[in-house]
Amino acid sequence: MQDALTLLNQIFGYPAFRGQQADIVAQVAGGGHALVLMPTGGGKSLCFQIPALMRDGVAIVVSPLIALMQDQVSTLQELGVAAACLNSATPPGEARRIASDAKAGVLKLLYVAPERLLTPRMLDFLDGLPQISLFAIDEAHCVSHWGHDFRPEYQQLGLLAERFPDVPRIALTATADHQTRADILHYLKLEDGQTFLSSFDRPNLFYQVVEKHNAKKQLLDFIKREYTGASGIVYCLSRKKVEDTAQWLAEQGINALPYHAGLSHETRDTHQRRFLREDGIVMVATVAFGMGIDKPDVRFVAHLDLPKSPENFYQESGRAGRDGLPAASWLCYGLNDLVQLAQMIEGGEMAVAQKQVELSKLDAMLGFCETAACRRQHILAFFGESREPCGHCDNCVSPPITFDATVPAQKLLSAVYRSGQRFAAGHIVDILMGSDTELVRQTGHDKLSTYGVGRDYNKRAWRGFIRQLVGKKLLEVDMSRGQRLLLTDACRPVLKGEQKLYLRPPVDDARAKTVHAAD
Ligand code: ADP
Ligand code: ZN
Repeated sequence: MQDALTLLNQIFGYPAFRGQQADIVAQVAGGGHALVLMPTGGGKSLCFQIPALMRDGVAIVVSPLIALMQDQVSTLQELGVAAACLNSATPPGEARRIASDAKAGVLKLLYVAPERLLTPRMLDFLDGLPQISLFAIDEAHCVSHWGHDFRPEYQQLGLLAERFPDVPRIALTATADHQTRADILHYLKLEDGQTFLSSFDRPNLFYQVVEKHNAKKQLLDFIKREYTGASGIVYCLSRKKVEDTAQWLAEQGINALPYHAGLSHETRDTHQRRFLREDGIVMVATVAFGMGIDKPDVRFVAHLDLPKSPENFYQESGRAGRDGLPAASWLCYGLNDLVQLAQMIEGGEMAVAQKQVELSKLDAMLGFCETAACRRQHILAFFGESREPCGHCDNCVSPPITFDATVPAQKLLSAVYRSGQRFAAGHIVDILMGSDTELVRQTGHDKLSTYGVGRDYNKRAWRGFIRQLVGKKLLEVDMSRGQRLLLTDACRPVLKGEQKLYLRPPVDDARAKTVHAAD
C-alpha cells in the first residue's frame, strides 16, 4: 500500500495534511468506516481520494450534484488520476468504456449519482467488479429530514452495507447538527465506524446582529462604515426585495448587482462572473446564490432577512472570509421576519412533521438573534461544540446592557392575557399605547385595565420587548392563527411578581438608567 503522505505530496502537491485528514485517511485506508463532519472548504475530498489511491480496486463516490462531480473528476484527471463519472448526461458509448475500465481494474474513482447507483443494473455491475476499494457518500446530510437538502434515495444507500459488508464506507458532510449526524449514522449504518468532527469555528468572522428599523439604510451605513469598495453578498428572502435593494444600493453609489432564479440565465451568468472576477461587487441575492461559489475574498455577508435555520445562517455567512482575513457576518432582523418565514412554512406543501422541524429551526434562529451571550458560542453549540466566549462578536465586544424590565413585561403579558390571547403583536401594542383604532373600538379593548398603560414607551420599544419575550420563551407566536401571541408557562413567575426580568432597553430609550451588564 502506498504511503498517504507520499501520495499527498506527489499527486496533489500539498506538503502536509490538514486538521483530521491524516486520521481519517488512516481509518478508511485501513478498512474502517467513517463519518466526517467538516466545514465547507475544510478539505473533505482528500479524505476519500487518498484512501482510494491507497487501496486496490475502484472507489465509488456518491454525489448528488452533477456539476460538483464533473469538477472533481476533471481536477483528478488533470492530476493524472484515473477518475470518471456516470450520470444522466454520460453518452452510452462513454459509459461502456468507463465500465470496462472499472472491470479491468484501471479506474481508481467512479463518481455516481445516488439514483443511478441504486438501479439493479448498477448494483449488478458493482457485484461483478473484481474489487471495490471504498464507498464515499458525499453531502451525506441529504439522508436526513433535518438536513437542508433531503433526498429520499439517500436513505436507501444503507443497502450498500448489506450488499458489500467488507467495503469501507465514508460519509461526508458540512452539516453537523446533532439530529443530522444521528440520521446519517443510522441510515448509512455507520454506527460501528468512527466519527470525525472538525471544528466549525471561523475565527476570522465577526458576527453582528442588529435590530431592523430601516433595513436598507442600515445596510448602507454598515457597508459605508467598514466595507466601501469591498466584495460582499447581501441575502434577501424575496426576488422583489433583491431587485429593490440592488437598485437602491446602486443609486447610492455601491457597485451592486441582483441575482435570483427569476433572472435570465445570461444575466445570472454575467453577474456571477463579474462578482468572481471584479473587485468590490456587492451581490444582492436570494439563497439561490452561493452554492459552490468559491470566492476567497468576500469581505462581508449581510442578511437583510432572517435565515431559516442556524445551519443556513452558518453556511451563508461562511461564504465571507474564506481567505482567512478579517470578514463580517451582519444580520438585520425584526419580528416580522419571523412571522413571514413561519407563514411560508405553514403555507408550504410539507408534511406536518416536517413543518414542525422547520418551525423549531426558525425558533433556534431567533434564539441566536436574541442571545445576550457570545454569538460564536451560540452558533457552535448547534454543531455540538462548546467553547469560551470568543471576544470577537458584537456581544463579546460590547456586552448588551440590560435593565429591570419586570414592570413593562408585566404590562405586556397582562395585555395579552386580558385580551384573551387572541391577537397579534400590532393590536397588543395598540392596547398598551392606548391607540384609538377600529379593532380597539370593535373589541372594546379600550375598557381593559391595561389600555394606555404603556405610553411611557413608544411602539418600536414595545415591539422590541415582544421580540425579546418571544426569544426568551415567555411569549409564543401562534403561527397557524394569525400570529396571535400566547402566554407560556414560563411567564407566570414574572406576571405574579415572583421573578424579575431583565431585557435590553429600547435603542433610543433614555430612561433605562438602572443598567447592569448582562452575564
Ligand atoms: P470541502 O469538500 O471540505 O469543501 P475541498 O475538499 O474542496 O473542501 O477542499 C477545499 C480546498 O482546500 C481545495 O482547494 C483543496 O485542494 C484544499 N486542500 C485540501 N486539503 C489540503 C491540504 N492538506 N493542504 C492544502 N490544501 C488542501
Ligand atoms: Zn463572542
